[in-house]
Amino acid sequence: MTPAFPRLLKSNGLFRPLVVLLLLSVALTLIGISRSAPSAYEEPSKTSESTATSKHVAKDKDDTAKELFSGKVVFVQDALKRRGVKAYDEFKSQVALETDDGELIPIVPDWRGRAFYQDERLRDRRVELVGTRKKAAPYLQVLMIFVFDDAGTRQYMDYWCDICSIPMYEIKPCDCCQAENRFRTQPQELPSFVKKPTQK
Ligand SMILES: [Zn+2]
Repeated sequence: MTPAFPRLLKSNGLFRPLVVLLLLSVALTLIGISRSAPSAYEEPSKTSESTATSKHVAKDKDDTAKELFSGKVVFVQDALKRRGVKAYDEFKSQVALETDDGELIPIVPDWRGRAFYQDERLRDRRVELVGTRKKAAPYLQVLMIFVFDDAGTRQYMDYWCDICSIPMYEIKPCDCCQAENRFRTQPQELPSFVKKPTQK
């Protein structure tokens, strides 16, 4: 019984086309595999790319470094005008820190940055801001505001209710007694985590 197969292969005229067919289908399968191979390869790379992209914009854990920014807060429209850029009034209220290097960093109007939009006393004067900037976003999220008095002494700035003795971070009726809060400054050094040679 054993020699039946080779004998068939050699002699049987019907078996040979079958072998050819078999080889052909194997070849086609291999081509199919090699065709699908690139897309199988592309897929993970695409996936990792989109993961990387979403990672950039993801609301990740707040491990963004707190940095020191110094300069003056100005209206973006004016700052652009000085650079020869005409911007229409959609930008009217937008403020930015103009750093000592002349870079414009737009300020996010959040719980701390909002004061720069409300209060002209905070604009066009030297400030030091402790804040963060998310990767791939130009915006500055302010955490601490320092201004300088006439003698050049650094002052931590917030708003204060004299009645309730509570600090606030924007101009508004006191959270507690609804009285007007006031602009408060206190001489204070920079926090140690940003104490470093200022950007120059
Ligand atoms: Zn109060």
